[in-house]
Amino acid sequence: ISSVENTGNLTVMGGGLVGCLLSLYLARHGHQVELFERRPDIRGAGPVEGRSINLALSDRGWRALEGVGIAEAVREVAIAMHGRMMHDTQGGLTFQPYGQAGQSIYSVSRAGLNRRMLDLVEQEPGITVRFNQQCRRVDLKRQELEMLDTETQQERVVPYQRLFGVDGAYSAVRSALQRTDRFNYSQEYLNYGYKELTIEAAAGGQWAIERNALHIWPRGQYMMIALPNLDGSFNCTLFFPYEGPDSFATLQTPAQVTEFFGRVFPDALPLMPQLETEFFENPTASLVTIRCFPWAEQDHVLLLGDAAHAIVPFYGQGMNAGFEDCTILNELLHQHGHDWGRIFQEFEALRKPNTDAMADLAVYNFQEMRDRVADPRFLLQKKIESKISAQYPEKWLPLYSQVTFSSLPYAEAWANGQAQERIMQRLMPHIQQEEDYQRPEVQQLLAQEMAHRS
Ligand code: FAD
Repeated sequence: ISSVENTGNLTVMGGGLVGCLLSLYLARHGHQVELFERRPDIRGAGPVEGRSINLALSDRGWRALEGVGIAEAVREVAIAMHGRMMHDTQGGLTFQPYGQAGQSIYSVSRAGLNRRMLDLVEQEPGITVRFNQQCRRVDLKRQELEMLDTETQQERVVPYQRLFGVDGAYSAVRSALQRTDRFNYSQEYLNYGYKELTIEAAAGGQWAIERNALHIWPRGQYMMIALPNLDGSFNCTLFFPYEGPDSFATLQTPAQVTEFFGRVFPDALPLMPQLETEFFENPTASLVTIRCFPWAEQDHVLLLGDAAHAIVPFYGQGMNAGFEDCTILNELLHQHGHDWGRIFQEFEALRKPNTDAMADLAVYNFQEMRDRVADPRFLLQKKIESKISAQYPEKWLPLYSQVTFSSLPYAEAWANGQAQERIMQRLMPHIQQEEDYQRPEVQQLLAQEMAHRS
């Protein structure tokens, strides 16, 4: 093991989505940044691969990208999704807009976005990127990293002055913090796994189902979703129990898979010619919520992104929350300059309640997506809510909009959403159809409820 001098005064561990954005922000504040990434340079692998995994990007993410001037470049490769398209077991469709006209979330390719961000990171003066560098261990006392070069298998020790752990849900930086006194840590897995599948493009690279929507096949105890790709295909994700009557455990043969999809997702099956191969070749991945605290070790180490707060994907907010971490850190850098101790402390105090709320929201939304969106009463409630929001725009914003189309702190959004849900529980027994909203007793009840809201 040889000791190599660290060239930068800030070290970023992890060149994923959040690590790249964070590096850009730090460099814009005039810092020298050294970015380590375990994987090889993904841009070496040719054009964006056919099977691209995509993510939903929404307002918080856009705001963070705008902060370093890269939102427009990303928008060029993003597809707007204006609402949810629900598919029932007969192939019938119901569309539910996400927000008001003009409000959409955006499907972006994870690999495409990461490549674009790596391009920008490399062009940025002040950032040095090192690929194939895996962090094996962090010595917090000596402020040293044990790094493995995954190409040459050589190990070396790299000193750091200030370390940012953005190395994802299974963070090596966090595991060093986990061995310090009074460090809280929990991880919780769902009994569900997910598998990625593909709806192929139709002839001529067209989209076989509505392009500008996030498709959902809600089936009570499980669901499939699909997000559009630029090439006409859709990236589908099946969220499915590991065990039980309808589960990964019961689908063991290609014939069982096809029979099951034909029965529960009949309109999707003909669009998925690779289903049998993909189902058995693509991994079944688990779904975890990770909470920990503190995120900072003195003014030396700070965790951000999934390393600090990994959540389940049902609100489409994991990356958006990690990007918002960068927005908040940037504001603190503006306020406190080089007072890192204060910046780190304020960062974790500001962010922790909000990412905890987001973790709860993500689990809550799983139930809504897989189950409640198939219930006509629930859809009626959503319609009524949007009427309330139109009538009382100052007092009512649907929870989904607060999370997705605003930058209100997640904890406030969650508390507001729960208060609004309680009002809906009182109101809905008086409403059997959309027109009932105008009935005098409903309007009167609503006016009373609104009088209590600031
Ligand atoms: P990561 O993306 O995990 O990046 C970590 C980086 O660190 C990687 O490049 C990794 O190679 C590197 N690394 C790891 N360990 C080491 C080490 N020891 N040494 C050096 N480098 C290391 N979020 C959304 O906002 N919208 C969505 O629609 C959405 N959908 C999702 C769907 C699924 C199925 C899943 C699983 C997640 C989804 N997310 C979504 C969440 C999103 O993927 C994450 O929140 C986001 O990728 C976190 O970014 P990150 O940079 O913190 O971590």
